[in-house]
Amino acid sequence: MRQRLALEPTSGPLEHLPFRFERWADDRVLVTNMVGEHVFLAKEEFASLAELRIGDPTLLRRLRAKHIVRQRGEELPVELLALKYQTQHHRLADFTGLHMFVVTLRCEHSCSYCQVSRRAVARTEYDMSPETALAAVDAAFRSPSPQIKFEFQGGEPLLNMEIVRLVTEEAQRRNRTEGRQLAFVIASNLALLDDEVLDFADEYDVYFSTSLDGPQELHNRNRPRPGRDSWELALAGIERIRQRLGHHRVSALMTTTAATLGRVRDVVDCYLENGFRDVFLRPISPYGFALRPRQRNSYDMGAWIDFYTEGMDYILELNARGVPVVETYSALVLKKMLTNANPGYVDLTSPAGIGIGALVYNYDGAVYASDEGRMLAENGDTTFRLGHVVQDSYEALMTCAALLDPLEESYTGSAPQCSDCAFERWCGADPVFHHATAGDPLGRKPESAFCRRNTAVFRYLLDRYTADPRARELFWAWAAR
Ligand code: SF4
Repeated sequence: MRQRLALEPTSGPLEHLPFRFERWADDRVLVTNMVGEHVFLAKEEFASLAELRIGDPTLLRRLRAKHIVRQRGEELPVELLALKYQTQHHRLADFTGLHMFVVTLRCEHSCSYCQVSRRAVARTEYDMSPETALAAVDAAFRSPSPQIKFEFQGGEPLLNMEIVRLVTEEAQRRNRTEGRQLAFVIASNLALLDDEVLDFADEYDVYFSTSLDGPQELHNRNRPRPGRDSWELALAGIERIRQRLGHHRVSALMTTTAATLGRVRDVVDCYLENGFRDVFLRPISPYGFALRPRQRNSYDMGAWIDFYTEGMDYILELNARGVPVVETYSALVLKKMLTNANPGYVDLTSPAGIGIGALVYNYDGAVYASDEGRMLAENGDTTFRLGHVVQDSYEALMTCAALLDPLEESYTGSAPQCSDCAFERWCGADPVFHHATAGDPLGRKPESAFCRRNTAVFRYLLDRYTADPRARELFWAWAAR
């Protein structure tokens, strides 16, 4: 018998497919299906859905199109949901794509929010050794991922270029037989960028990621260094990279400190004035030094939500005036919200991105499930230490309880509150954050700043999407990037 199409009217008995819902202040109800496709219903429409008394053919068509109800016994909606669910998880088979090498803890900056125990420039005992670096390259190639990104971090990685070069050359040599798609990124403040580094980056197709916290005085206040010229050196480095390697070879990230709050327009303007079209309005991380009590940069997540809201209002206003600019986190969320694609961003995945999305090789050979896990270890909490890259096998690292337990415990599909949450498919699990702030990988979501932040972002984006046709068009463009 011919299978009935999802949009065709039905007269048989209906039954629910799995869905979740969230009430809005204006009495609308957001309903999401098990792959995160959404529909807003009026209060009365939601009551008819709950009671399965759906007399309105238009409403029935909408609910069937979103696989929220089906005719009893109908297989096609279930098969489509299964296919979409499988597609959303296809990256799991390709773990681990990102490998972070902490080539040194040394740094000539002393940023107030620094998430690691940065060490003075002379302390070379905090550099990664060649033996550790080569073992870490070997571990990276044990990953089944067809794409492997090598990211060099610190401290300041340009202080240990010898190891950056060794890892890059060894990875390229190995890849002659491996045939993976490799990418190399140096996360640097660019203060020490010179022609030699640029020659190397040119030869090996290396990209740069740098910090730009906003206007000059704000950036230099957040990121002190001898000479108080961090902003000037970062901008000069960005310009040199663009001139020599191309505009696309350097990206920038900002961190929102207490001093940044209230200045989101200045930050966005600074990015535009310096040729960036992407701004990532990142809250400060609660790890490492930033976790310490009475830390002068600490603020409540509510203050960041106000900052984000004002920033997004401004970004939408700029786009309406013909100035293209993207808020990076929103674009990642919108990809999950509006398409079936998984952008693979580690903070927005469940199972969590720790270990299976990224691995971190510390200068001393310790392997961590995430950079945040390493930051905790620098402050004495080694919960997310998986082992040692020279002493432990790849199998031992990837199957240890320090990785598997938090992955299982934090999975949003079964976690209390998350498993009932209408936003679950767009959200992620962050066991390191919740361990750091609540003492366990799951946390208590009503008290979780992670949950509060994401809920605010989801609500903001949905409100603008449904109320503003211009924003809707723009959000589709962001989701399609
Ligand atoms: S963290 Fe919060 S917003 Fe995210 S799925 Fe869980 S309950 Fe929902």
